[in-house]
Amino acid sequence: TGKLQFEALSVETLPTRLGDNEALRAKIGKDTSAWKVREVGDGNLNLVFIVEGASGAAVVKQALPYVRLVGDSWPLPLKRSFFEYHALTRQEARAPGSVPAIYHFDEGQALIIMEYLSPHIILRRALIEGRQLPNIARDIGLFMARTLFRGSDLHMAAKDRKADLALFADNVELCDITENLVFSDPYFDARMNRHTSPQLDGIVAELRADRDLKVEAQRLKHIFAANAETLLHGDLHSGSIMVTDSQTRMIDPEFAFYGPMAFDVGMLLANFWMSFFSQRGHEQIGKRDAMRAYLLEVTVETWSVFRAEFSHLWRTERTGMLYQKSLFENQDDRLGAEQALDHVLHQMWTDLLGFAGIEIHRRILGLAHNADFETIADEDLRASCEAKALKFGRHLAVNRRQIHSIDEVNHLAALIE
Ligand code: ADP
Ligand code: MG
Ligand code: MG
Ligand code: MG
Repeated sequence: TGKLQFEALSVETLPTRLGDNEALRAKIGKDTSAWKVREVGDGNLNLVFIVEGASGAAVVKQALPYVRLVGDSWPLPLKRSFFEYHALTRQEARAPGSVPAIYHFDEGQALIIMEYLSPHIILRRALIEGRQLPNIARDIGLFMARTLFRGSDLHMAAKDRKADLALFADNVELCDITENLVFSDPYFDARMNRHTSPQLDGIVAELRADRDLKVEAQRLKHIFAANAETLLHGDLHSGSIMVTDSQTRMIDPEFAFYGPMAFDVGMLLANFWMSFFSQRGHEQIGKRDAMRAYLLEVTVETWSVFRAEFSHLWRTERTGMLYQKSLFENQDDRLGAEQALDHVLHQMWTDLLGFAGIEIHRRILGLAHNADFETIADEDLRASCEAKALKFGRHLAVNRRQIHSIDEVNHLAALIE
């Protein structure tokens, strides 16, 4: 079927179109008349179907030749499915068990058949409901350290990394979305921007007139564009993570490309801080003081687990062309290796604070908002949560070189809240 013209699947056509797919038949049962199909895509870009048969279930994710959220006025290449598939295979190799199992990939139809995660729910939803997941900090911290370290020149053979870099360099259009939507649009009157209005009009005008902020946002964009350090997930927010109390799975890496390690970490932490500032809007069903404390603890633990695992990999798997052991450990200079590690982690820390600040802004001022704030029906209440988050984001982006610890960041968050 790979040679057929692309055609979007529908709930009605899926059993016929995929009825002869061996991987799917093996997983869910051969009797296609028993297949039940639902479309559950709640993302901004793609179709996602759950297909249940007599002996199991699977997810079929298909790209569309345009942005789902906007419609066919905004074309977007089908090849994002190719990048998502290849990113998933690398993430599974580098951080086993962290992503859904892949059953089949069809490049021509831009579709991936994968494990149906159940009873997992989207992390963002769980946090809005006020659920405290016990393992997310550890699981996500490990995922980030393993994928980011093992996809870089710290670990890979230079030749392999360059080949991979070339492969993902073609993910131009999705990268372009990040470059514009994240780093630039929030700071001028871009066409697709929106914000809670009129409540936030004043602060929006202030941020767009804030020279220090705009320069810092562009410096961060420069770091993002010019540092092909490792294979990023590229869209690692709480809507790209599915959880149960005991399991954590990362999904949706279609934005994958080679960029700075700090980008994934910063985006992820920003989503915990946004959840923190949104809790005030979800208190109708009870106080969220414990939830707020939990969220700040999650940021502390995520960064701590990340650093511990990254440091462990630095000491045990530093096999690439950077900071070679021949210069340090092999000359009995273990201190040199630790010194270099501290430099790398410190730079990452400074940059991730900036990326976090900018990510918060674009989720409140840009095109793609998040449900943490959007589901707060009372607009004044929503705007007051958003205003605090904007203030926090600005502080992080502009003062990132003067902030020393995650406790300090969380102290600021509590102060602003
Ligand atoms: P998009 O790229 O359009 O954002 P996602 O990959 O994020 O698409 O998927 C959209 C939604 O589909 C997710 O929020 C989740 O609810 C559901 N989903 C995606 N993949 C799976 C999966 N493997 N198992 C269960 N549900 C999934
Ligand atoms: Mg998604
Ligand atoms: Mg998305
Ligand atoms: Mg996506």
